[in-house]
Amino acid sequence: NAKIIDGKQIAQNIRDSISEKVQKRIDNGKRLPGLAVVLVGEDPASEVYVRNKKADCEKAGFKSFSYDLPASTSQDELLKLVDDLNSNPEVDGILVQLPLPAHLKSDLILERIQPNKDVDGFHPYNLGRLAQRLPVLRPCTPKGIITLLNSTGRDMHGLKATIVGASNIVGRPMALELLLAGCTVTVTHRFTKDLQKEVSEADVLVVAVGKPGLVKGERVKEGAIVIDVGINRQDDGKLIGDVEFEPAAARASWITPVPGGVGPMTRAALLENTLQAAEMHDSE
Ligand code: NAD
Repeated sequence: NAKIIDGKQIAQNIRDSISEKVQKRIDNGKRLPGLAVVLVGEDPASEVYVRNKKADCEKAGFKSFSYDLPASTSQDELLKLVDDLNSNPEVDGILVQLPLPAHLKSDLILERIQPNKDVDGFHPYNLGRLAQRLPVLRPCTPKGIITLLNSTGRDMHGLKATIVGASNIVGRPMALELLLAGCTVTVTHRFTKDLQKEVSEADVLVVAVGKPGLVKGERVKEGAIVIDVGINRQDDGKLIGDVEFEPAAARASWITPVPGGVGPMTRAALLENTLQAAEMHDSE
């Protein structure tokens, strides 16, 4: 039976170490790292994410700046805010919560964020650096997953890694991270012909789709490491992932739970990126 990868605990360790580093900055007379979180409109899930991010910041000892804008905010108004935050020396990281209301062009807005303040790691500069094996600020969810994989102690070189889902925020940057880690990488998506066959060959399986039960536990390879990124709310209010947990855990060597696996790591990686950005700005 698989060992559980305890994302909650690993994320807590990261937060403790960040708090210590913030204390050292204070002792050395340096600024507090600052994160600006921008929310446009009233998407209930986004409101929860943003609230958590602000609370994480405050607990870590960061300065948090918060902008809750009405859904009617125009493209120009939002770009102006990003420009102001870009030039604000107290702001190390800028996070624009996605999805944005349909009239706003998220690609243009994300590209307006100065790359050295792009703590989500979504700017083409940061993705390009990762693609060229010179990562700077790395997308939070894949970065957190690499930390989880490293926690197993397994050497990643030469393992066959399969990613299910090819989104800009998870699947694609995950493929770049796993390549960098030395895996042989396959990316599957909605047009993949035989998903369960690809799943059955994976030593490392990362699933990020948002469909409960998409990955059949019985198809998981014996001894695989299974990372379930999916978050799905059931009728009874409980959260479940995309992988059938029990049968997958019976075959895997390691598996992440939902909740308590990838989610806390994404939040911890955002803090790591904000501290990293502050350190980059110290020397500018
Ligand atoms: P998305 O909707 O942007 O992308 C989904 C991807 O899945 C697409 O590439 C699509 O081609 C693929 N897909 C759809 N049906 C498929 C199928 N039948 N077989 C194979 N691939 C299929 O989603 P996203 O933003 O990447 O999020 C995916 C899931 O991960 C969601 O449940 C989301 O809530 C969750 N998520 C969790 C975290 C976290 O921190 N835990 C972070 C981001 C996303």
